Amino acid sequence: MLKLYNTLSRKKEAFEPIGKGRGKTVKLYTCGPTTYGPAHIGNLRTYVFEDVLRRWLEHGHGWKVKQVMNITDIEDKILAASKAKTLDDVRAFTKPHEERFFADVDKLGIERAEAYPKATEHVGAMIKLIERIQAAGFAYERDGSVYFDVRKYHRKHHYGKLLKIDSKHFGGEKGSRIDADEYDKDSPRDFALWKREPKGTVGVVGWRSPWGHGRPGWHVECSAMAAALKLPLDIHAGAVDLTFPHHENEIAQTRAGDGQDLARFWLHAEHLLIDGAKMAKSDGNIVTLAEVEKQGFLPVHLRTLFVQAHYRGKLNFTWQSLQAAKESYERLQTFYDRLSEQAGDAPEGGEAVTKLIADTQARFAAAMDDDLNTAEAVAAVFDFVRDGNALIDAGELGTDRQEDVLEALHGFNDVLGVLTLEVERAPKRVNALADDREAARRRDDFAEADRLRKQISKAGWTVEDTPRGPRLRKR
Ligand code: AMP
Ligand code: ZN
Repeated sequence: MLKLYNTLSRKKEAFEPIGKGRGKTVKLYTCGPTTYGPAHIGNLRTYVFEDVLRRWLEHGHGWKVKQVMNITDIEDKILAASKAKTLDDVRAFTKPHEERFFADVDKLGIERAEAYPKATEHVGAMIKLIERIQAAGFAYERDGSVYFDVRKYHRKHHYGKLLKIDSKHFGGEKGSRIDADEYDKDSPRDFALWKREPKGTVGVVGWRSPWGHGRPGWHVECSAMAAALKLPLDIHAGAVDLTFPHHENEIAQTRAGDGQDLARFWLHAEHLLIDGAKMAKSDGNIVTLAEVEKQGFLPVHLRTLFVQAHYRGKLNFTWQSLQAAKESYERLQTFYDRLSEQAGDAPEGGEAVTKLIADTQARFAAAMDDDLNTAEAVAAVFDFVRDGNALIDAGELGTDRQEDVLEALHGFNDVLGVLTLEVERAPKRVNALADDREAARRRDDFAEADRLRKQISKAGWTVEDTPRGPRLRKR
């Protein structure tokens, strides 16, 4: 039985999809990127967590997953960073960031969601939702902007479901408003559902609405786009920083406008830290996937680092920890390669192998079912590798059984996704050439090194010299 920690109840709860009968589908909504810069590896940690969640629902439980991840392509930070004068400017600015986001997603082996709606393409749905909220009496207009009436909503439905806010903190005097998309939990004021375009810019970076030209607030984007999946969702996920105000506001908007719960389970992943502080673009302490690669690491090393930690624990990033993850990955990969080689016959019996596989599968599943404890699941896989290697060394793993072990390993990898990323692994022959070239370089035999480089190139690969030694890339 799968148990997931639900921020709503602050408890691990048994999870089952709402849909009954055949082909049960899990409706999953995940807050996606704001496309105003490259994703940092903190963002990527959250996306990898959501991917592992999705894979466990699919492979561990056989459910179908219908995941929607929005792309926030209009929002305060985008307008500030792009200095866009028109909507076309906004699109021209966000597009390369969006492309880069998808490139990162693919490199990390993150399965694609079923849909990636863009905020700018769903403004009609947002306007309709705001109208419903207004008709229900929970929103009001001021000077061409529309605000959510937090106090009024709270009296009826309780505001603060995720963060348990004491209503005495509902900032300032009654009806005080906030226009910024992001704000502090100390003063949850009436937030903007619709933002009027500033004077002098009317009609350029906005849309026409019943309240004049303007644009949607960030929070309403998600409530409107999530409703593309029939509500309530089974799971809504994101990182902890979104709990307040973003998710709290999403819940309030959907309840106020559509009279129902947005989601049954709210999952929040902890942050990636660097030097003990949250990695954040605004703090200038970010590391990107491009930088990770430039340092000679593969995306799969980063993924390995992420899955070795539980998603609800903070993770402090260091290059040493990435190096350690790389070594773990290599241990796994070596075992995998060893299993793929011909083994010959092993003696009869093999109960040890059967038991090893069954025990590991049980341990792996129990860990994953316990609120996606990937740290423990990965530990189970590494014990499996150790014991599997011992069986090979002892000549107790013949070709037949090897297939079973390989199949089990594939099963674990379907969930963790730390092996299949290696589509770019060079064949042994090319690796040998690269080793020879490195040796030639070390003894300053540059003519030989150059000759070997050309041979590698002929085989369809290039060698790059990184701070961590040479690395092969497919040309
Ligand atoms: P953004 O592009 O800033 O809207 O963020 C995209 C996703 O990354 C959201 O789910 C954020 O909560 C998450 N996120 C932002 N910073 C971090 C971090 N340091 N560690 C983990 N997740 C983060
Ligand atoms: Zn969202």
